[in-house]
Amino acid sequence: MERIEKFLTEKQQSYSLRTLKPADRRSDGKIYFGTSEFWDFSSNDYLSLSGHPKLIQAGQKAAEQFGSGAAASRLLSGDLTLHHQLEQKTAALKGKEDALLFNSGYQANLGIISSLFSKSDVVFSDKLSHASIIDGITLSGAKHFRFRHNDPDHLETLLKKSRTKFRDCLIITETVFSMDGDIAPLEELVRLKEKYNCILMVDEAHATGIFGHDGSGMVSQLQLAQKVDLIMGTFGKAMGSFGAYVACSKQIKQFLVNTSRSFIYSTALPPAVIAANIATIDLLAEEPFRRKQLLQNAEFFRNELTKRGFDILGSSQIVPLMVNTSEKAVAMSNRLKENGFWALPIRPPTVPQGQSRLRFSLNYDHNPEVLQSLIEEIERAFNV
Ligand SMILES: *Cc1c(COP(=O)(O)O)cnc(C)c1O
Repeated sequence: MERIEKFLTEKQQSYSLRTLKPADRRSDGKIYFGTSEFWDFSSNDYLSLSGHPKLIQAGQKAAEQFGSGAAASRLLSGDLTLHHQLEQKTAALKGKEDALLFNSGYQANLGIISSLFSKSDVVFSDKLSHASIIDGITLSGAKHFRFRHNDPDHLETLLKKSRTKFRDCLIITETVFSMDGDIAPLEELVRLKEKYNCILMVDEAHATGIFGHDGSGMVSQLQLAQKVDLIMGTFGKAMGSFGAYVACSKQIKQFLVNTSRSFIYSTALPPAVIAANIATIDLLAEEPFRRKQLLQNAEFFRNELTKRGFDILGSSQIVPLMVNTSEKAVAMSNRLKENGFWALPIRPPTVPQGQSRLRFSLNYDHNPEVLQSLIEEIERAFNV
């Protein structure tokens, strides 16, 4: 079709064509393509848990014992005691009454938001919210307002103007932002949710495993679990496996089990994945040195880049380096690749025009020597 060819040509010409590139393997903070290897700064496996022998063994054992697949959705015959064990452990980690599993974070956001809210309701989301949050809101049919990134004053202005015109109200944000690496002003959001009688939902995809006691997340680090109604997160990032959850009240869980289409109409997560997720929660408590080391690495990296005058964002393990044009972001990324560092450019439409960046996802295995040589390469690549 002509429009498809046109689309692809335009993407190519604006340095924004996305392509797949299969790796041969990944491990210990590195990624391997044929005979080339790179330090991997694009993965969300922040703690290097996806290669941890305890997770792998837990998955193997469960596959042997319970089979490779779950056979059906949980409301048919796909529901195992394993799923309930993981839900209990997740609820305990997050400090909520209960939890419900979803097959991925994308499906969780889609299914949670669209089943709890509809066109009589209103949703206020942070402007930088993940695509899955936006898609969930669109699917719900609720009226949607976006507040300026991490700006509770702007949120309050919008709430004042519109809250009373609608039945129920949802405020939604990420706790650690995937593209900017910064942290939501949760205390302020809790205050506004209470003042304007709203429900507060947060997405802890990039916070779980890293922040909070035993890696319980940013909400729990700030001791706000009782005040945040819906705490969503994933097992696919720092947790080293796959799948997602929402921690919430028993009542909301029961409602979601009965209404959430991405939960009802999808085959349950396989036993190996569930068992790995159970093991990962135990591991977070057993190996706190991983998250401590990761956050130290990130602080070192941010401090060194700031000292050298770079424009960086964030205050977490995600460190975006602003380079403004897509063309420069692509050129820098290519140059870093030539020198053994895998850091991909983030371009529009993922981020606004003029805010292209290189996004560095740090990893437990990226020790200060690795980071030091990366910083030197960044300086060279930036000044070309
Ligand atoms: C990755 C991510 C998701 C989606 O989770 P998956 O399990 O990968 O589908 C949702 N929200 C945020 C903020 C994410 O970064």
